[in-house]
Amino acid sequence: MNPDETQKLIIDESAAARQLRAGFPWLRFEKDLEREFRREQVRARLPQVRSNLFLATAIVFAFGMLNTLVLGTTIHSSMYWLQFGMVLPPIGVLLALTYHRAAYRVYQRYAPFVVAFIGLAVVLVESRAAQAGVQILFVGVLLCSVYVYYLVGLLFYEALRANALIWCTYLMVAIFSALPEAGVLYNTLVLLIANIVGATAAYSFEMETRTHFLEQRMLAETAARDGLTGLYNRRRFDEHLVTVWQMAQREGVTLALLLVDIDFFKRFNDRHGHQAGDECLKAVAAALVRSARRPLDFTARYGGEEFALILYDPSRQYLQEIANRIHSNVAGLGIPHGDSGVAPAVTVSIGVAYVAPTLERSTAGFVQLADEGLYEAKAEGRNRSVFSEAAYAELETGSFRRRAED
Ligand code: GH3
Ligand code: MG
Ligand code: MG
Repeated sequence: MNPDETQKLIIDESAAARQLRAGFPWLRFEKDLEREFRREQVRARLPQVRSNLFLATAIVFAFGMLNTLVLGTTIHSSMYWLQFGMVLPPIGVLLALTYHRAAYRVYQRYAPFVVAFIGLAVVLVESRAAQAGVQILFVGVLLCSVYVYYLVGLLFYEALRANALIWCTYLMVAIFSALPEAGVLYNTLVLLIANIVGATAAYSFEMETRTHFLEQRMLAETAARDGLTGLYNRRRFDEHLVTVWQMAQREGVTLALLLVDIDFFKRFNDRHGHQAGDECLKAVAAALVRSARRPLDFTARYGGEEFALILYDPSRQYLQEIANRIHSNVAGLGIPHGDSGVAPAVTVSIGVAYVAPTLERSTAGFVQLADEGLYEAKAEGRNRSVFSEAAYAELETGSFRRRAED
């Protein structure tokens, strides 16, 4: 694999990028992404959904007034009861769900059912009115369908299911009630057409929302990367170190940090030019990524011509293996270094810190420990790894305390 391919691989590794490439015509991401997407959606939409639900309450009252004013006594009073009694409470339930402490979870879970119930109630009200000779309330059903698609924060399939239920119920009522056939048939078809239009738009909307979600994720991912090498950058390294440090502390496992520094790189630049220097950095970065590929292995550009690898819970043997592999992979690149003094090709020195994170230790000290190893590797003649022996002793005895903390 050439360095550019590896760089591409490094960046493309993110789940978001993979998903974007694979596509999602069925509006479904792979498991973890899907869960995150749904949570984020509910969270992002909740305030808007809440206002929409207040608006829905106002609309129900407005319909009530409209019916009283325009239709007067034409319709039976039980219809008012139906309208207020069956439509308002579930809207209230939805509103209450949006105020729940774990709204992102409970709203997601229960809203589809409550919404379907509201749809059924609206159909019932309409059919009751139609039986009393008032067909124009059908617009209420249409309005309800629009709401289900766009305004109550449901995802496409949930909205589609709720609307399918509404439509089927409408059809049943139409078949089993003694309403004028032409009018009911017409309304049923209008509702179907409205659903096709509504569902199509809702599908595109969710497609766009999902694409946007993935792109945002990739953007965040890019912001965590170093522009030249494609590795994680220093900022991401700092964040990651704190995260895994705490994780290792909780789980009582070890962490290893390898600081990898290119030997005589200033001379390399002076001799071969800055551009060749950049190419060399990319190639070394790629070689590092190839050297440590376990899922939790983390490789970053620490700065300049220094790289950092964090290994989670490595065995001592694995650690040794990785260090050896790095030296041999970098040597394998065969990048001529005319001014090295160590070897005819580019080499690296590695400082390794290996600790069990405990409360009295800090990440700063961990880095310091690896840095001391690196310093020693340089002093001993470069092109080698130095393991901080103090760290091993500490692992065995638990008595060592890092200096950097004092
Ligand atoms: P040592 O073996 O002791 O590490 O010597 P060194 O020359 O590698 O170390 P030094 O810190 O003196 O020099 C590092 C050089 O790395 C200096 C700088 O020009 C070069 N460098 C840092 N970042 C980049 C970069 O992004 N591109 C290029 N081409 N060179 C860089
Ligand atoms: Mg160097
Ligand atoms: Mg350096």
